[in-house]
Amino acid sequence: MVEDPVCAKEVDSEHAACKSEHRGRTYYFCSLQCKQLFDSEPSAYIVP
Ligand SMILES: [Zn+2]
Repeated sequence: MVEDPVCAKEVDSEHAACKSEHRGRTYYFCSLQCKQLFDSEPSAYIVP
């Protein structure tokens, strides 16, 4: 399981609704809405 960086829900990476790549890392999301929020401003959701 991985954490959805937008809403902090646990997401199964093999069955995630959506995913997005950013700077060579893949992020998984529970919904398209979370992916769209992330894609609009990835740095707001990534904890360094
Ligand atoms: Zn989410």
